[in-house]
Amino acid sequence: MDIIAKKSLGQNFLKDESVLNHIIESANLSKDDVVLEIGPGQGALTEKLADVCKKVIAIELDERLVEVLHTKFVGNNPPAGGVEIIAGDILKINLPELIIEHGLDKTGYKVVANLPYYITSPIVRLLLETKYPPTEMVVMVQKEVAERIVAKPGAMSILAVSVQYYAKPEFLFTVFKQSFEPMPKVDSAIIRITQNMEHGTITKEETKKFFRIVRAGFSAKRKTLINNLSNGLQLEKKVVEEKLTSLGFSPNTRAQELGVEDWRKLIINLFK
Ligand code: SAM
Repeated sequence: MDIIAKKSLGQNFLKDESVLNHIIESANLSKDDVVLEIGPGQGALTEKLADVCKKVIAIELDERLVEVLHTKFVGNNPPAGGVEIIAGDILKINLPELIIEHGLDKTGYKVVANLPYYITSPIVRLLLETKYPPTEMVVMVQKEVAERIVAKPGAMSILAVSVQYYAKPEFLFTVFKQSFEPMPKVDSAIIRITQNMEHGTITKEETKKFFRIVRAGFSAKRKTLINNLSNGLQLEKKVVEEKLTSLGFSPNTRAQELGVEDWRKLIINLFK
């Protein structure tokens, strides 16, 4: 069946065999792995995943594609690895329940996916914050988003801080727009996001506080961190300046210059 891609669902299907193989190599899978795939589309990546792992749990929103996937994988000729297709919206599904019900290891499973771009950030956030997060994600995102996620101090954003707070992101390789059908406007990239295992020791309250302060720091892009923090948190400018400079930052520092560790130290300093 010929499927007309729905732009509104971020449907750009990967057509390049060598890119598919490169993703599979990067995911480093074994026959013990049960993998979660988000947005399997017409199943190009799903098929390759099924060849190298124990089982693929694939969640697809578009019912037309769910039908195609059922015919392909659940029909008479299932691939060696086994594929389960779940019709649903990744952002609405009860992920912890799905993980338990479908045999994903709640202490460590992988996500491999070519993500729908219109909801990349909410999906990444969901996977980092969910009760049973994956140990590793190898995902395709827009190249510009990939660069923002792996940014270093000097070019940080709330997105970069949010991912790097929970995990270590790495830029793996660029995928040119010509590799997709229909061809998107921009290039993509594969990134690996590895969960920071010590994260389990941080309480929800600490995390909430951390992001309340980070959001205040980024609130007005052109303003200095001192101005943003003193306005947003009702702190005296002099106090913020003293704490910031004691960490080696100048009074003109802007939020994008701080890495996650800098934020941690600053927050401890500000509230001790
Ligand atoms: N994996 C396929 C490939 O590489 O060719 C398709 C990737 S395409 C970029 C994104 C896929 O995500 C589409 O199949 C789209 O229908 C699906 N999708 C979009 N929004 C979704 C959602 N909220 N939950 C689950 N799947 C979604």
